[in-house]
Amino acid sequence: MERSLPYTQEHLMFKEAYSKFVAKEIVPNYEKWEENCIVDREIFKKLGDNGYLCTWADEKYGGAGGDFLYSAIIAEEMGRQGVRGCFSWLHSDIVGPYLDSFGTEEQKEKYLPGCVDGTTILAVAMTEPGAGSDLASMRATAVKDGDEYVLNGSKTFISNGILADLVVVAMKTDPKAGNKGITLFLVERDTPGFGRSKQIPKVGLHAQDTAELFFDNCRIPAANVLGGEKMVNQGFKCLMQKLQQERLMVALVNHASAERALDLTLQYVQERKLFGKALAQFQNTAFVLAEIATKLQLGRTFLDALVLQHAKHADVVKEVSMAKYWVGENENEVVAKCLQLYGGYGFCKEYEISRLFTDARVQTIYAGTSEVMKLIISRTMGLG
Ligand SMILES: Cc1cc2nc3c(=O)[nH]c(=O)nc-3n(C[C@H](O)[C@H](O)[C@H](O)COP(=O)(O)OP(=O)(O)OC[C@H]3O[C@@H](n4cnc5c(N)ncnc54)[C@H](O)[C@@H]3O)c2cc1C
Repeated sequence: MERSLPYTQEHLMFKEAYSKFVAKEIVPNYEKWEENCIVDREIFKKLGDNGYLCTWADEKYGGAGGDFLYSAIIAEEMGRQGVRGCFSWLHSDIVGPYLDSFGTEEQKEKYLPGCVDGTTILAVAMTEPGAGSDLASMRATAVKDGDEYVLNGSKTFISNGILADLVVVAMKTDPKAGNKGITLFLVERDTPGFGRSKQIPKVGLHAQDTAELFFDNCRIPAANVLGGEKMVNQGFKCLMQKLQQERLMVALVNHASAERALDLTLQYVQERKLFGKALAQFQNTAFVLAEIATKLQLGRTFLDALVLQHAKHADVVKEVSMAKYWVGENENEVVAKCLQLYGGYGFCKEYEISRLFTDARVQTIYAGTSEVMKLIISRTMGLG
């Protein structure tokens, strides 16, 4: 079925060129990055040199001023080609927008050109060992001292944690004020008192580096409050405002990954012969894959509608929460059913379906768990 998104000729040319770039520069290296549990820094530079980072950034910062359809194309392509652990899309379309929306002009001038050309890699640090879904209970603090803030505490599960040159960090500036006492800070890589762990070993998504960050009397200039000091204690509002795009990006990547699982399985069942015929010719195979295709088509239609609404800056928090929840759960169901059709081979690393299976597991957890999504949806229905 034809997509309903209003792609222009420019979007289509961009999609084709980006797809070729991913196939040439990312796919062949991906296995190595999975083994190293981190992507090469160099890939960010190559992406930047080719105009594939922060495509939305204004021309005065080196960007192309593109609309959200470009971001959506990038997200889909990472899933479609099975390389979503290269978290350049988090850099560009989850963290970068914090600078764009809330940064002061000085902050934008200082940092955005590096984000666009790939020399400044971004991460966002909210989660703490004792505060994940319940972000308001974070305990890391930032205390003003003259012209500086002194940061203490730790953050965990930070994507791009090792590669990042600049981290948007949420800290408590008024510990008694709950979510009204949180401020966002810009912390640069080599700031004294700022450290990071080795990669946290995970069951999947190995190419994506995930680390703990430590702040031990880490002093940063007051000028590094994101948005300037008028934004002190406004951090939670900023986080909430950016979650719509974060969750939509995650849903887009995940849905494309589930579509990839179906494509790979469709090929496999044609090739695998048993009881004198192709696995594709068993009615069970046909029905399982027909069910998967139906759900993926429904999901695609919903996501396209959301991309359009989000591109128009509409408030679709409820619908995006539905998408984040449903797509993640559906993806897990899809990859489990596809893997089953591979039999023992599906359990072997040699077959990509095994990686799609392990990579899917975290998708109902990060960027807000399925349960938290249901909480948001049910509250809009006057429940809970
Ligand atoms: C690979 C990876 C990358 C990540 N990247 C980042 C990153 O870049 N930056 C960042 O800040 N964080 C990141 N995270 C953290 C992620 O967002 C959190 O793991 C997630 O929000 C859940 O928090 P938690 O792990 O503390 O689980 P908890 O909050 O402890 O949840 C435990 C269980 O309780 C359930 N639960 C929680 N609240 C409710 C409720 N009100 N009602 C019912 N059930 C509930 C949850 O759904 C879950 O099942 C990442 C995590 C992973 C695994």
